[in-house]
Amino acid sequence: MRATAGIVETDRGSLQEFAALESTVRLYCRTFDRVFARARGAALFDQDGRRFIDFLSGASVVNYGHNNPRIKRAVIDYLEDDGVLHSLDLHTTAKLAFLRKFRDLILTPRGLDYRVQCCGPTGADAVEAALKLARKVTNRSTVVAFSNAYHGMTLGALAVTANPRKRASAGVPLEHVLRMPFHGRLGAGIDTVQVLRAALTRERAVKPGAIIVETVQAEGGINVASPEWLRGLSELASAEGIPLIVDDIQVGCGRTSDFFSFERAGIRPDIVCVSKAIGGIGMPMALALIKPELDLWKPGEHTGTFRGNNLAFVAAAAALDYWRDDALARQVAKHGLLMRDRLAAIAARHPEHCTEVRGIGMIQGLVWRDGQLATAVSRAAFARSLIVETCGPDGEVTKLLPPLVIGADELEEGLAILSEAADEVAAQAALRPAIRQTRQATSAP
Ligand code: PMP
Repeated sequence: MRATAGIVETDRGSLQEFAALESTVRLYCRTFDRVFARARGAALFDQDGRRFIDFLSGASVVNYGHNNPRIKRAVIDYLEDDGVLHSLDLHTTAKLAFLRKFRDLILTPRGLDYRVQCCGPTGADAVEAALKLARKVTNRSTVVAFSNAYHGMTLGALAVTANPRKRASAGVPLEHVLRMPFHGRLGAGIDTVQVLRAALTRERAVKPGAIIVETVQAEGGINVASPEWLRGLSELASAEGIPLIVDDIQVGCGRTSDFFSFERAGIRPDIVCVSKAIGGIGMPMALALIKPELDLWKPGEHTGTFRGNNLAFVAAAAALDYWRDDALARQVAKHGLLMRDRLAAIAARHPEHCTEVRGIGMIQGLVWRDGQLATAVSRAAFARSLIVETCGPDGEVTKLLPPLVIGADELEEGLAILSEAADEVAAQAALRPAIRQTRQATSAP
């Protein structure tokens, strides 16, 4: 029996309490069924002190590591100094410090000119804001969104999300969306930008008010758009006068090694949605970055109580120090190659179960024949103290998102655990047909 932070009893007792007290909507905790108490760097510790390597990172929130000491220190100092915590959208010193630093370290060096809209604190609100603004500016309602896209759960964001199981929860028709094939969706030989061009330029085509795209579809299965495809899309959007929205919520903030995931294509989206890792150590924060000529909002036209939390500004500003040089970007590229290499080795050992390795930077995935195998791998990895989730339309991709700052040794340790877990699941899967055959033979009439 232990009493830590209000959690009493054994692990088992606590899990039962969660089941009794919390809604059935909870998800990740069903696979990773421990009660976590502490976190540091790339590790989570359960209430018994057992260490788990975190390859989930809150779905790319904890890019700078759990409780990153430098970021945490800035937050503690601000609290101890009685800094303003909540202020709606009043001017605060914390906000100004963040905005200046974001301009000086991120926007100006990249030749980007965006106004920052502070949104409600989840990614979905940045997507809602982007869609509303593009529709307002163009006075057109249809939005182009892609196969396997994920943009969030509020109704506007859900409408542009592709997954039918997620959409089914809406309870109302999700409309005004033109769904088009993402890069590679129709096979390697077909440039799907041309498919979109044909749809937009055919006779009596309805002109869309926006195109929304993830440069790497994370929830959708780690589908990486090529730079050429992104450039083609951007050129088409600008030729047709359609604002291009890049949803960089999961793969921005260094995940692909550049700060913005679209940098590798050299494009300049009209609106960029940023959230998750921008809050430094998991402080909720979401931004819509808007080209000045599109910033036609009337005051308060998209509002909300928690637009810009000052603790999040403080944490975000401290995190931006990582972008004073290219050391983190180089580390992400290097770690990404290592991850890819280890996943390729697993795929080579199990060609009957693994079909592909996909990814860029430190978002890498191993594609399994089906979602059952990928789920089994997550469970087998968790039994060995590694947290790694699945993604893709049928959950068939093992998705690796370690904190960007993870050390090489810890990364290797996590990859070795994954490798063992994958071997175990593949061995069991190989046995299954044999077991089935034996059962059939023995149960024959
Ligand atoms: N867009 C993308 C690309 C995402 O990955 C997510 C979250 N997984 C969202 C939007 C929605 O963000 P949130 O869950 O914070 O609302």
